[in-house]
Amino acid sequence: MISLAQARALIAENISPLSAVAAPLGGACGGVLRQDVWAKDDLPGFDRAAMDGYAIASDDASEKFRMVAEIQPGAAAKCKIGHGECARIFTGALIPAGASQVLMQEDVRIEGEFMVPVERSRVTHVRHRGEDARKGDLLLKSGMRLGAGELALLASLGVTRVKTSPPVRVAHFATGNELMAPEKKLAPGQIRDSNSTLVATLVRQFGGEMVKQARVADDFDLLLEKTRALKRSFDLLLISGGASVGDYDFGKKLLAALGFKIHFSTINLRPGKPLVFASRGKQAAFVVPGNPVSHLVTLHVAVRLAFEQFSGGKTSWTLVKIRLAEPFDFQPGTRETFWPARMEIQNGELVARALRWQSSGDVTGLIGINALLQLAANLAEPRVGEDISVLMLEVP
Ligand code: AMP
Ligand code: MG
Repeated sequence: MISLAQARALIAENISPLSAVAAPLGGACGGVLRQDVWAKDDLPGFDRAAMDGYAIASDDASEKFRMVAEIQPGAAAKCKIGHGECARIFTGALIPAGASQVLMQEDVRIEGEFMVPVERSRVTHVRHRGEDARKGDLLLKSGMRLGAGELALLASLGVTRVKTSPPVRVAHFATGNELMAPEKKLAPGQIRDSNSTLVATLVRQFGGEMVKQARVADDFDLLLEKTRALKRSFDLLLISGGASVGDYDFGKKLLAALGFKIHFSTINLRPGKPLVFASRGKQAAFVVPGNPVSHLVTLHVAVRLAFEQFSGGKTSWTLVKIRLAEPFDFQPGTRETFWPARMEIQNGELVARALRWQSSGDVTGLIGINALLQLAANLAEPRVGEDISVLMLEVP
């Protein structure tokens, strides 16, 4: 049985980035940038006022200054400020020729057509051309994720379309005769399908787009027919349930019949030991064990990496050390364990608290989950107050 680290290496090796597409800024948030971006011009592009006040030459020691112009932001100031002169100016406006300092309006007195400094300091209150970035500076590197800050920078550079990773196209089948749509009344033996909602939510969070999602009975031929019909319409196929070795667990057989190469089918992991990963050309597939906790854990520790590989971005294995706040029902084991947990702030300090986890079939154990405690195989019981290894589920 391979370790999770080995499994992750196999996922990384067998998935390549999807071809980049050009996206308008409005559609690029959350995508991975697939080009370098340089400053086409200086930022800011001209010397400008950083305060509302009066523009003068900084070496002009006059006692009062005649107001010869008013410059609003956006105006192309054509005046030239001479000795003993100033221009009324507002934050963001272009500093006129001859001026090199803005006296804050709070530091002056107005006497008719004159401005009289009450207080003078060395601070110029001028944002100089190129102070933020110089023309030709490399500002954004290929591979970084685009958020509000990066998109605002692109807009200020005049870059309105960027090469980004396309959303990963996902097809998902939840398998099981017992599964019913959440809105349905249940007959004895039936349960509501919660994994489809879990998967749809995480797929969106990981940068995917669901192109097909359906529940399918434990019927090999039916599942084969449905997955065959997908052809090349997906990048990633996710099958929920049927990863194990029960009589009706035919995930692995299905992928083999579809021409996928199986890279692994069990990992030394708790929960989530039966996890199948396979690839076919540029496409990849997972069969994910059906229990809700196993689902959530494997989607985060393994499937998420597939999304990152497809997007060509950095991988985010967000392990941190955080203080354990409370004892929990720890049982040492021979498998590396990821225990559902919550990071929270207690008395101004970030701490981790294990959530109740009796069975991987429990759904209430997922309430408030935002982290997983990483417990190495054969680890001694972690003590309250000790730093513990925690995988953050929301990437900072
Ligand atoms: P399996 O991986 O198919 O052996 O399923 C393991 C357990 O997870 C069984 O108790 C299933 O009923 C349950 N399960 C499987 N699929 C789902 C689902 N989509 N939603 C909720 N529970 C599920
Ligand atoms: Mg099943």
